Amino acid sequence: MGNNQSAMSDPLPRNRMLWPMLMACMLLGVGVIAGQARADVLTDIAHLFPATPRSYVQASALLRELGETSPLLTVQSIGQSHGGRDIWLATVTDPDYPSQDKIRLFIIARQHGNEPAGTTAALGLLAHLVRATSPAERALLAQFQISVVPIANPDGAVSGRRANGHNVDLNRDWGKFTQPETKAIRAAVHRRMAHAVVDLHELPAHSSKRSYQENFIETIGAHGSLPAILCDNTVAASHNISYWMSKYSYPLNVYYDYPGESLRMCHRYWGLSEGRLAFLCETKTGRGRSLGQRAGFHVLAILGIINYLGRQQSSALQAAVPELDRPAAPAEAVTSSPPLETPLRLSLGLEPYSGADGPQVLVRTQVEGSGDFGFVMIKLNGTTKALTNERNGRCLLNTGNLAAGAYAISAEVHDADGMVLVAQQATLNLPLTDLQVAE
Ligand SMILES: [Zn+2]
Repeated sequence: MGNNQSAMSDPLPRNRMLWPMLMACMLLGVGVIAGQARADVLTDIAHLFPATPRSYVQASALLRELGETSPLLTVQSIGQSHGGRDIWLATVTDPDYPSQDKIRLFIIARQHGNEPAGTTAALGLLAHLVRATSPAERALLAQFQISVVPIANPDGAVSGRRANGHNVDLNRDWGKFTQPETKAIRAAVHRRMAHAVVDLHELPAHSSKRSYQENFIETIGAHGSLPAILCDNTVAASHNISYWMSKYSYPLNVYYDYPGESLRMCHRYWGLSEGRLAFLCETKTGRGRSLGQRAGFHVLAILGIINYLGRQQSSALQAAVPELDRPAAPAEAVTSSPPLETPLRLSLGLEPYSGADGPQVLVRTQVEGSGDFGFVMIKLNGTTKALTNERNGRCLLNTGNLAAGAYAISAEVHDADGMVLVAQQATLNLPLTDLQVAE
């Protein structure tokens, strides 16, 4: 379990001095800062995206420039790639506040050299935050230390290839650490004592894998050997991300890892081996999905996590203020949520599916009727396994490591506050050749 203990005994910092700033910090995740003549934060950041991906040399020059002009940003090399190129670590924070009191987020982009959206998102976010002048953003930098590796695979970025200069897929090297890139990044996450790790990727335009058909996020979810608070935080953080993705009309599925999953992928290594909050963010490429749109998905995911973590800390401080536990919805959005007497209807269907990942079941959910909802949650024997913010949802559940028997699959439509509006149940009989659906 590696450094599990140190990560677990190092919970999110709680500092009452920060409380006045937390209220402002909550607002950053809210697209429009109410009552201020200020543009939408995602639009602000998207203005900083280039039309085409920056090269490794251009990205390095931008980092240098930002680091030289802002006291909020430091840039350092944490090692060299197989091909001898520097791996940059940029850290944005307000240095006037002690780092041990901060929530420490670590963002990894472009482990796969041919996936530039994560780099675009990371550089846009950094460039935005170093110029931050609004109270909300200054409060965020007082509360958070955000460490970013914008190009984890410099050799792959230069050659336009997925693998590194030694022809190794870096996102299958975690746990083994045979490559200089994964070694250097792991050491940097440890030095930073990061509470949460976010890994940014892109999905191919065409893939036979059904789980690759839409943007998705993968995180830990329920896991018997990890502290419940950690699992709860990953589930709740993904609710918040889903909420914001819906606000900005980004389709999203969320998948939760569980025992038996490969630890060779970055987010699973950090989540399952080291017990840290960890998120894999995959934005879909293809027709109509520009670099800016794809990078926007990553920025929203990061802001959703920041927004959740900021509120989590404040809700621990201020248990007497119950509205802090809700998604950070502007007042008008809360009042427009459908009432519990909902006009929404939900249908649920299960289909066996056997792909490269082994036996799986495709869970189809369809929400009908007028009215908003927050997300649809899929549970297996009461444990949350996936969620989607789409009306026509398609989520895959791995069944390869489940014993033969009957399992209860339930789907629940939640409102933005997490209240269940309508639910359906079905029975999954394994093995899948005996699949039956009973409503
Ligand atoms: Zn990737």
